Amino acid sequence: MDSVNEILIRNYPMSMVTSLGVGGPADYFLRPCTPKEIQTGLDLAAKNHWPVTVIGYGTNLLVLDKGIRGLVIQIADNLAQAQANGTQITAEAGCSVSGISRLAASLGLCGLEFAIGIPGSIGGAVYMNAGAYDQEIGPLVTEVRWVSPQGHGVWKDGEYTYGYRTSRAQSEKVIITQITLQLAEGDPCQILATCQDLQNRRYAKQPMEYPSAGSTFKRPTGHFAGSLIEKANLKGYSIGGAKVSEKHAGFIINTGKATAKDVLDLITHIQQTVKNRFGVELEPEIRIIGEE
Ligand SMILES: Cc1cc2nc3c(=O)[nH]c(=O)nc-3n(C[C@H](O)[C@H](O)[C@H](O)COP(=O)(O)OP(=O)(O)OC[C@H]3O[C@@H](n4cnc5c(N)ncnc54)[C@H](O)[C@@H]3O)c2cc1C
Repeated sequence: MDSVNEILIRNYPMSMVTSLGVGGPADYFLRPCTPKEIQTGLDLAAKNHWPVTVIGYGTNLLVLDKGIRGLVIQIADNLAQAQANGTQITAEAGCSVSGISRLAASLGLCGLEFAIGIPGSIGGAVYMNAGAYDQEIGPLVTEVRWVSPQGHGVWKDGEYTYGYRTSRAQSEKVIITQITLQLAEGDPCQILATCQDLQNRRYAKQPMEYPSAGSTFKRPTGHFAGSLIEKANLKGYSIGGAKVSEKHAGFIINTGKATAKDVLDLITHIQQTVKNRFGVELEPEIRIIGEE
């Protein structure tokens, strides 16, 4: 590519690249194919004083209705090569989590079965320290390559630190370009059976048939957000096109014509109701970005 400038898209609707399907336009949108193109995009943003927002597959995002000022860089299927070396898998950040989980299963490598139905990118998963079924991706990560406005770098052997839905990548605001996971040899039939079982459980319990951004709230200490919302009689409650899923109260779904304001108002209503009924503060797990 001669110039990143030539492939910047203006006024790109974020509803097209978020699983919830809401959100106004990004001023400038870039889908880079290499880490060098990310760096070029960052340089261009710095030159023009544009703020920079990074997204993966947009499966954990609520983008507000007036959209995002400056440059949005999407690390997705343009940057999605993966390879295995023994019991390690190295993947570019735009690989899908489920794809890497399936690759591991096909090679008889265990450890990533829990992630089979997580719909985001592997870079987004490492950034968020995504997890399911009492496991998370953090303990598997042995290397993270990243770029930032200051340059590029690599974290090895324990230098990537993480907590519940948080990680060093969040605190240092880096863009993850590639990760390596340490897996273990396992019984291929058992691995496939576990993946199938977890996938079935996900489809049975979660509203996979509707647009959503996954669990709306983090798990409050000593409680489950979904069961507090259900006990507050909010299952099925809706504002505009945003609705508390009847299948799993921890999810807000877009029934077709939701705006980001509908979703935001519903989040606020749930938080206030749960606080009044049970004295518990619900903190969003989904990332709310952009202008109202
Ligand atoms: C139906 C459904 C089920 C889900 N189930 C789960 C689940 O079981 N467990 C779970 O943890 N999550 C779950 N999620 C949420 C989501 O899939 C994960 O958080 C996922 O890891 C986010 O990846 P993404 O690429 O979509 O990131 P995005 O939503 O695009 O971004 C999320 C955050 O990561 C940052 N980010 C993304 N890519 C990069 C990168 N390369 N470098 C730096 N920062 C980056 C963004 O800036 C943003 O702050 C679910 C979502 C849906 C819709």
